[in-house]
Amino acid sequence: MPTRPYVIDTMISAKSIAARIEELAREIKEEFQGTDKLVVVGLLRGSFVFIADLVRELDLPVEVDFLEASSYGDGTESSREVRILKDLRGEIGGRDVLLVEDIVDTGFTLKHVIGLLQSREPHRLKTIALLDKPSRREVDVKADWTGFEIPDEFVVGYGIDFAQRNRNLPHIGKVRFTEAEQA
Ligand code: 5GP
Ligand code: MG
Ligand code: MG
Repeated sequence: MPTRPYVIDTMISAKSIAARIEELAREIKEEFQGTDKLVVVGLLRGSFVFIADLVRELDLPVEVDFLEASSYGDGTESSREVRILKDLRGEIGGRDVLLVEDIVDTGFTLKHVIGLLQSREPHRLKTIALLDKPSRREVDVKADWTGFEIPDEFVVGYGIDFAQRNRNLPHIGKVRFTEAEQA
């Protein structure tokens, strides 16, 4: 999809992300100490870089699975409608589960997916989001762990896209349009 010209201003450096992930991993290891298996569920596609870095800091018996939900089209506004595009490969009943999300914005996606996973009766379900935009929340939901709270800006990088681009940026940046929208 063609978009207006934009530049990306750095918001969170790769170094800050790495340091924060080390802290979060310490807390997660403490929480799940002694587990026989932790199923780390990444929400595709935005969490793929985060989950890769996070599991490598988790010195626990980890399995990785993925779920794809969609609330955004290729624009920058939530559709408030959550669809499951790809379900987990494995069973999570009776398991310890960590759900990994890139951004909590309105909260619709996280709330919906938590409900779905809870219905499968895991032993323990915890959630982590790299980014949180609390000022945008429309439904009452919060991840158990959050990497960074950010203002209401459209961000990209570190796995997060704008119309499928910029996922490979090593840091988090905010999109700034350089030309006014055509009438
Ligand atoms: P929610 O359902 O909480 O409104 O939206 C959650 C999803 O919307 C996030 O997982 C993410 O995929 C997408 N999203 C929310 N804010 C942004 C943003 O600033 N940039 C991008 N690229 N996606 C976002
Ligand atoms: Mg997401
Ligand atoms: Mg997206």
